[in-house]
Amino acid sequence: MKCRYCGGVFHFDEGSTIYKDICGKCAEEKYPLTFAVRKMVQEYHGVNAARDIFTEKHDGCLPDSMLGDDIAINIISLFKCIGHVVAEAAGLREDEHTVIVEPSYEDSTWWLVTKEPPEATVPQAAQSQIVLFDYVKAWNLGEHTEEEVEERLRGWRDEIVQSLRNVKLIESAMQAVKDAKVSPLS
Ligand SMILES: [Zn+2]
Repeated sequence: MKCRYCGGVFHFDEGSTIYKDICGKCAEEKYPLTFAVRKMVQEYHGVNAARDIFTEKHDGCLPDSMLGDDIAINIISLFKCIGHVVAEAAGLREDEHTVIVEPSYEDSTWWLVTKEPPEATVPQAAQSQIVLFDYVKAWNLGEHTEEEVEERLRGWRDEIVQSLRNVKLIESAMQAVKDAKVSPLS
């Protein structure tokens, strides 16, 4: 196989290579978020799922290669892979965020990323802050170009970056009020 970007020749192995027309190096350089999600999907669901997940047309809500006994669990798994990648790209470490998914194979799947307080060992709903919230029909994730997928993932990452900025602004405003010992209502 020949890479469509660098022209380099690489070996495509049905059982272990995700891309048919891009070499691993170019895929990681040009589409880092898509590449990271595919790698994570590969880890949990195998190489065929990693290859089909975004670019193939799905007959159901997930590609055949990702359909298991429990579709809902696989939808959760896919959105968790996406959520972890965009959260980490936005600067939230693994122990600083949680991805929560309400799956649907008939309608939109709701999912959100929360920022956890520093010492949290389990999600603490009252203290965690929602930094991303969206709903997507799972089957709409399929049949896109690599460029389109990367753009969508970048959009989600940027939303988290913006949310984190807002969280910081609110925190410093609260701190300023505390420091000045002034009631915000006075
Ligand atoms: Zn290449």
